[in-house]
Amino acid sequence: MELKIYNSLSGEKEIFRPIHENNVGMYVCGPTVYSNVHLGNVRTFMSFDFIYRSLVHLGYKVRYVRNITDAGHLTDDGDVDNDRFVKQSRLEKLEPMEIVQKYTVDFHKVLDTFNLLPPTIEPTATGHILEQIELTQKLIEKGFAYESNGSVYFDVLEYNSRGLNYGELSRRNIEELFANTRDLDGQNEKKNPQDFALWKAASPAHIMRWNSPWGEGFPGWHLECTAMSTKYLGEKFDIHGGGMDLKFPHHECEVAQGKACNGTEPVNYWLHANMLTMNGQRMSKSTGNYILPMELVAGNNDFFEKPFHPAIVRFNFLQAHYRSVLDISNEAMVASEKGFQRLMEAMKLLSGFGFLTSDSSTFDISAWKEKCYTALTDDFNSPILISHLFEAVNFIFKLKDGKETVTEAELKELQHIMSGFVYEVLGLQNIEENNNEKLDQTLQVLIELRNQARKSKNFDLSDQIRDRLLAEGIELKDGREGTTYSLS
Ligand code: AMP
Ligand code: ZN
Repeated sequence: MELKIYNSLSGEKEIFRPIHENNVGMYVCGPTVYSNVHLGNVRTFMSFDFIYRSLVHLGYKVRYVRNITDAGHLTDDGDVDNDRFVKQSRLEKLEPMEIVQKYTVDFHKVLDTFNLLPPTIEPTATGHILEQIELTQKLIEKGFAYESNGSVYFDVLEYNSRGLNYGELSRRNIEELFANTRDLDGQNEKKNPQDFALWKAASPAHIMRWNSPWGEGFPGWHLECTAMSTKYLGEKFDIHGGGMDLKFPHHECEVAQGKACNGTEPVNYWLHANMLTMNGQRMSKSTGNYILPMELVAGNNDFFEKPFHPAIVRFNFLQAHYRSVLDISNEAMVASEKGFQRLMEAMKLLSGFGFLTSDSSTFDISAWKEKCYTALTDDFNSPILISHLFEAVNFIFKLKDGKETVTEAELKELQHIMSGFVYEVLGLQNIEENNNEKLDQTLQVLIELRNQARKSKNFDLSDQIRDRLLAEGIELKDGREGTTYSLS
């Protein structure tokens, strides 16, 4: 079956043809480790985890590179005091590399909680300063970059004057870009406001600094991904992924750097994952509209009624296609929990079946299997795949109720396909959902009893219930909507 992938570069679904048969090189932009990842970041990394798992399941050997951005990601090129790591290190009174370590550890812990597989290579920007300096030198030699006050910038107009097209990936028109750019402070050392930094001179206060042919400084953000992807995957590789918001300028700059350096389109398939929203707005730290992944899992937040197991969050995310916006809500999570439980109940039944008959089933397993693979190979369509899996779930419940029959061979096939999709491809894990459910029911009883005690002004008892639960690590919170709880 042919795999079709939506390529942002062409704006079309294309048949996937890897450069080296059966081997796939995939690069995904990693986190900027200056603070905790929020749930939106997790969605993007999970989208690519699903894509990685799918490629492996389809038989490809994947070299999966996902970097750690631990230097150089400024909020804008013109203001060196906007270095995220330096700012955060002042705030937390830690060394910048302590900030990097702290949030890298947090990142790994979070992704592990949601059962994301590690990449096969996880390079860091600070570990590849030499490569970035060499790339910058090459771009200067080729006339695509210029030095200015100890910084080096990519010359966008020069790039376009050679018949190349800055804007080809994000479909932006360079004239419009020039017209719409404000002249920010500090940008006067650039020839044009659209020129982007390859290397920045460090101000005396800037702690993260390295020696270079242009004096002490640090690399620009866009350059690190070109340096690391080229080093581990080559000048041209198969797949590059990242969140939609990275398409411009980050990925556009990567295309320009790669083409200018090597004269070739660096990436064959550009994949962009869509955003997670909450209250209909993009999840983002800067606007305050965000939730931390562990807050959702522990329930210590004001948005969700109760804690949700990471496997249920995973199931909820994969119920949306990676190119669609997903709005997270309490209702949707509750619905996902129900669906997840039914799916896992079916998996349990499937592994312990004792109701074999010699009559073959009316459920056409090979036709169903083909539908599942058609969904998976149609640009990794997880929601359609899940809906097909639920056809099998319904069949399994009919088997249980004696309304269907199945032969041993059919049953084996069904078990094999279901566990492949559920555990390997979707990465779901069987959790002891009954325990969660029981705990939830028990806590609802205690909350009810506490409310009754308060109503009858028996505050000794109501306080005792609250305090003893707290001593067990369960915090009750009284809000306008009633009492909720969180687990520590
Ligand atoms: P950053 O650490 O800011 O570079 O972001 C890490 C990844 O998370 C990038 O691929 C972003 O595109 C992605 N991202 C940021 N916000 C969201 C969101 N609300 N939903 C999904 N992905 C996001
Ligand atoms: Zn990147």
